[in-house]
Amino acid sequence: MVRSIRDIDIENKRVFIRCDFNVPLDEFMNITDDRRIRSAIQTIRYCLDQKCTVVIASHLGRPKGIFEAKYSLDPVFKRLTRILNCNVKFAKDVIGVDAKEKVASLENGEVLLLENLRFDKGETKNDENFAKELASFAEIFINDAFGVCHRAHASVEAITKFFDTDHSAAGFLLQKEVEFSKNLLKAPARPFVAVVGGSKVSGKLQALINLLPRIDKLIIGGGMAFTFLKAQGLDVGNSLVEDDLIPEALNVLEEARKLGVKLYLPVDVVAAQTFSQESAIKFVTTQEIPKGWMGLDIGPASSRLFREALSDAQTILWNGPMGVFELEKFAKGSFKISHAISEAHATTVVGGGDTADVVARAGDADEMTFISTGGGASLELIEGKELPGVKPLNTKEMD
Ligand code: AMP
Repeated sequence: MVRSIRDIDIENKRVFIRCDFNVPLDEFMNITDDRRIRSAIQTIRYCLDQKCTVVIASHLGRPKGIFEAKYSLDPVFKRLTRILNCNVKFAKDVIGVDAKEKVASLENGEVLLLENLRFDKGETKNDENFAKELASFAEIFINDAFGVCHRAHASVEAITKFFDTDHSAAGFLLQKEVEFSKNLLKAPARPFVAVVGGSKVSGKLQALINLLPRIDKLIIGGGMAFTFLKAQGLDVGNSLVEDDLIPEALNVLEEARKLGVKLYLPVDVVAAQTFSQESAIKFVTTQEIPKGWMGLDIGPASSRLFREALSDAQTILWNGPMGVFELEKFAKGSFKISHAISEAHATTVVGGGDTADVVARAGDADEMTFISTGGGASLELIEGKELPGVKPLNTKEMD
């Protein structure tokens, strides 16, 4: 069990909350989806109700350890101010002069947001000195950033070394995520079907291998399907392929066969020559992708095949879009799978920002059992792994 913010005394204290405000932005720096900010509000308000002084930190995107305007948390600061409807302060740096001055002058009931944690190289290196500086800002550490709990980063893992069990806990969002996945794993109703997609096999390979013994069917779509199709000897044209992972893909196919897991790959695709809404498209079978063309969405026959495979599912886990859903021309496959999953008489769990975005755009969000705010983190939890960000917050009597 993870220690909840309710289990510790935070009244009148200085609280550091690690949030996941890694929201999508358009080219004008407008937030296109603020769910990650809204889902942290419950924890922030609880702290304010307990008369705490609140310091909030988050990352955004992948800056390389130095300030880059396009990764500033300024848009998040503005949206957070509007949602909380109170005077939020914003530090121009993470542990620099401005942050230190603003932390020092913070009064009870006030909220300070620090600049992007990844503007400091120490964050992704899990650097203890950086974590110590962050820890010096507060008496209590609350982690509510489920989306990064699978990463041993300074504000997630190293920082916990500076707070004992009476002074560190999970926020409401993290608690809900962890409890849901643990309960799901205890006795998932069968058939248990995992649907995975997205761009790369490399990010999800280990997850696929670990998931196999737990599931009955595996449906693979999106860009990652092409490494598997190529491994089976198909010519996939210019489609996304990670050639160095072909042996691993063969290993997954072989493991699935040994374990009796039914594995489904696309049988047709929507192909184009370029990544563009204006490109000419062709509907072709995966055996007939023309030279120079690439598969950017699953085709109608694959949608029907996957729907059929999902029809008797009792538990469905979905992580990763079926195509380049950001472009309308290649979004249909993902929308069809979203509809099929939402209509299934099953416990349905959606993981990952992109997948949650697909489900919202398809109008299916209310029909899903649980939409996780973390992609990688939710997959790793369901694989049965202990997350580095969650482990230090576990109560002694672990279940
Ligand atoms: P991931 O971050 O690995 O979950 O991948 C999500 C991304 O995969 C989305 O931005 C999609 O546009 C992309 N994607 C899905 N299908 C394909 C495909 N067939 N080719 C290239 N990219 C894809």
